[in-house]
Amino acid sequence: MEAEWDVRLEIGTLLFNWLPEADYIRCARAMTELYQDHGDSKNHMQTRIFTIAQQLGKEKFVQLFKKYFGSIKKTKTPLYTFNESAEDCIAKLKSYPIPTISETNYNDWKKLSVSPAKVGSKIVSVLLRYPYGKLRPSLMEKIVDLTDRLGLHFVRLTQDKNLLLPLVHTSALPEVYNFINNESNDIDLSLKSFSGHIHSCIGPAVCKQGVLDTTDITTRIALKLDALFKDKQQQKVRFANEVLKMIRVSGCPNSCGGHRGASIGIQGLKNKGKPCCKLFLDDGNDKFEQPIQQDGLLGLDEMADKVLGLLINKFKLNETSTK
Ligand code: SF4
Repeated sequence: MEAEWDVRLEIGTLLFNWLPEADYIRCARAMTELYQDHGDSKNHMQTRIFTIAQQLGKEKFVQLFKKYFGSIKKTKTPLYTFNESAEDCIAKLKSYPIPTISETNYNDWKKLSVSPAKVGSKIVSVLLRYPYGKLRPSLMEKIVDLTDRLGLHFVRLTQDKNLLLPLVHTSALPEVYNFINNESNDIDLSLKSFSGHIHSCIGPAVCKQGVLDTTDITTRIALKLDALFKDKQQQKVRFANEVLKMIRVSGCPNSCGGHRGASIGIQGLKNKGKPCCKLFLDDGNDKFEQPIQQDGLLGLDEMADKVLGLLINKFKLNETSTK
């Protein structure tokens, strides 16, 4: 676990060599309380955690953080107490005698949303995608019923505002598919549109630090992708997950959307009051074939075209089968 140390140099400082899963939320809470007590939320230029760290010095900052963390561990009700072993969870999963479904949509859905769970060949994870992270309470209740039927008693929220069923017996996949099919107004079964599925921070609609609307940025890219993959279902099924993994959007330099570490990172900003973006491209592992450098500022339409061009180039989307 690292804290951002210097936003210009993008250097982190180590807080823990290793942190158990059960301490993640405590850690976030400790940093939030430290910021509330020592941060300056009124001054836009001073509002980041690294400013506190710079003022105190690295050693004192780490000591202070550990003090907050230690006090939360001692006094707060645990926020996350899940401690069952994977073996115990798997033993409770229900298996089904239902034969598999052979329709194309089912197979496409499996390619888009089902992944190995790394705990045995008969156990998988299933992603429930709902655009923009909007999940109705009544649907949440139905998902709870579904998890009961599957024998699963926990789910995970993902960074891209979706919900993961982490452990599902492969024989239960038709049950999950039929559930999603019945709820397809809310859950996007076959990635009808990329809108609402591109990873971004919450943006200025909620966050006071936000400069540019991240939903606007992601929607512009999503519409380009929708047009690109129109009538190319096979290409979409093949490349969509990889495409979605590559793009990260943040509404300001703070990088809550993770744009600084992304293959294609986009930071919203304003230049003389005009909305624009900064593109961060990572050519690690030869991800792109063209030379990459950190670009200057781009207008929003220009940015969406540029992102699309990079993806077409990387995946050779104009050359592979059009079906
Ligand atoms: S990156 Fe996004 S969520 Fe984070 S401070 Fe900036 S606008 Fe807010």
